[in-house]
Amino acid sequence: MTMEPLTLPDQSSAWSSWLDERGRDSLRTAADQIATLKSAQPGDAAILQLWNDAGISISNAAAITSLLTSVHPDADVIEQAEAIEVEVGRFISDLHTDREVFDQLSSIRSVGLDDGARRVLAHALRSFRRSAVDRDEETRTRVRELNERETELNQAFSRNIRDGRRTASVSPESLAGLPEDFVASHTVGDDGRVAITTEYPDMLPFLTFSRDAEARRAVAHEYFNLGWPDNDAVLGDLLRLRREKAHLVGYADWPDFDAELKMIGKGGAIAEFIDKVAEDAREAAHRELAVLLERGAPDGITEIDVSNWRYCFEAVKREQYGVDAQEIRRYFDFAKVHAGLLEVTGRLFGLSYEPVDAPTWHPEVTSYDVHLDGALLGRIHLDLHPRDRKFNHAAQFDLVPGVRDRQLPEGVLVCNFPRGLMDHDQVVTLFHEFGHLMHHVLAGRHEWVQFSGVATEWDFVEAPSQMLEEWAWDATVLQVFATDEVGIPIPTELVERMRAADEFGKALLARTQMMYAAMSYRFHLEVPDDLTARVFELYPEFSMLKPLPDTHLHTGFGHLDGYSSGYYTYMWSLVIAKDMFSAFDPENLFDEALAHRYRDTVLAAGGSRDAADLVADFLGRPYDTDAFTACLNR
Ligand SMILES: [Zn+2]
Repeated sequence: MTMEPLTLPDQSSAWSSWLDERGRDSLRTAADQIATLKSAQPGDAAILQLWNDAGISISNAAAITSLLTSVHPDADVIEQAEAIEVEVGRFISDLHTDREVFDQLSSIRSVGLDDGARRVLAHALRSFRRSAVDRDEETRTRVRELNERETELNQAFSRNIRDGRRTASVSPESLAGLPEDFVASHTVGDDGRVAITTEYPDMLPFLTFSRDAEARRAVAHEYFNLGWPDNDAVLGDLLRLRREKAHLVGYADWPDFDAELKMIGKGGAIAEFIDKVAEDAREAAHRELAVLLERGAPDGITEIDVSNWRYCFEAVKREQYGVDAQEIRRYFDFAKVHAGLLEVTGRLFGLSYEPVDAPTWHPEVTSYDVHLDGALLGRIHLDLHPRDRKFNHAAQFDLVPGVRDRQLPEGVLVCNFPRGLMDHDQVVTLFHEFGHLMHHVLAGRHEWVQFSGVATEWDFVEAPSQMLEEWAWDATVLQVFATDEVGIPIPTELVERMRAADEFGKALLARTQMMYAAMSYRFHLEVPDDLTARVFELYPEFSMLKPLPDTHLHTGFGHLDGYSSGYYTYMWSLVIAKDMFSAFDPENLFDEALAHRYRDTVLAAGGSRDAADLVADFLGRPYDTDAFTACLNR
């Protein structure tokens, strides 16, 4: 069956009606499908097919609203998408508390179903129980209310961060040390000052290169007050709400409720994992901190805090490892990196990308059809530069979840890279996000939408993208596209130094990550009255970096809505990524046979099996933590 990619509006005035159709009409279709499901003969296996049909409709509506709220340039369209997003959330919540649907699904006998169907059914029933469907009416109503309110609070939380961009006013002299293109694009205002915003392309270079400690503190102060004060109350409400919901459906706390769907299984295991990583990293982190302090001393730095660690880090890398970020940037021109990414991943996974001239939400978006073995696999859209109102981190979004013979997968990368020269860590981020996109597209050929794309356990979801980062650290790979202005490829010896420099600080950063993970877990477990105070208690327990006074990390930490208590997942995935990567020969990252086997056993499988089984299939043994622990202490 030939399937066509989605056609997006080609005029800005057409978005509103198109979005209404794609969003609200999909929900109406889902409602019809659910009505048919309810009237089916109990026990009829067609019930599961209808469940899948409705799932496809709902996923389509959910994908478009989530994407457009994050990327559309028009505030009215964003508002409309947010409104529909609330309706989608309500629809899902209503559905998962609908006793009739639960009874119909429960009537299906799993004997005689194939593995996929049995998995879909088991997951659906579990999800119903998690929504309290088997509880009394009062409980069900309350859970419904909580779900709706949770969607609103999540939206408010990310909106306050997205729209709450802050600006520090610094002296023109404080730009000394920054790259030329940065200085050129930050002109002095009428007041004789320069505005540095909390957006990444402003904030990160400034904190890394500015030699002015006071100005760095001013910028960091603004950054660590993103979302303050509004998000403090929003987050407090969110935490109380999640706790209530977990209790209502019979779990001890939210982390237990949340962990049930993950590889990790139990809330308590999160605390153990965080402690283990922090402990494994302790010694090396102290050594690294001493190096930073020593380097900071001549600049009058007596303690390493969140405003000066990047500066000291960069200085150590430049002076002790001979790695100068500005020297490296010369090799990473955005256009060449963009083309190189496609070439490298195309070779690795046996894919070809064909540019398509299709309308999207913004002229800077580039779109490609992805082909595998001559067949159209799906379409990708790359939206890679910053602009007003756009989601200000880096992430992959779904546009269409792929379903075999029904709809082609389409995915979107939303990033905020400069249009000229990139830092190497931005190149790494690009490879990372592209790993999600590959996962989304390659796993877009399942019969069940529930298995489509990155629909795997959440603590596994980062592993494929974290593994793809390794390719951005390999000289042979980088030399495919990383050339300077006269076309000379990045020297192998420089890449080796970059890697050595990258090793420095691993343990310290791991402990900072564990600080974030502990915040996400502890907040949800304890629901503290004073969130700011709790953050300041957790800092010294895990992070080696000092926070700044009068800052509020938690109000700007966007992951607290999506990841809830599971920010540990990032590190957990990394453990798995390092383990999977150990199958590759570091001397030959273009081992196509192995890469194709990985593509087929891990990526293409999507959510059709437990991640632990996919990894075991690929490695020929169960996953373990050895490769990761070795890398922390290398
Ligand atoms: Zn990711």
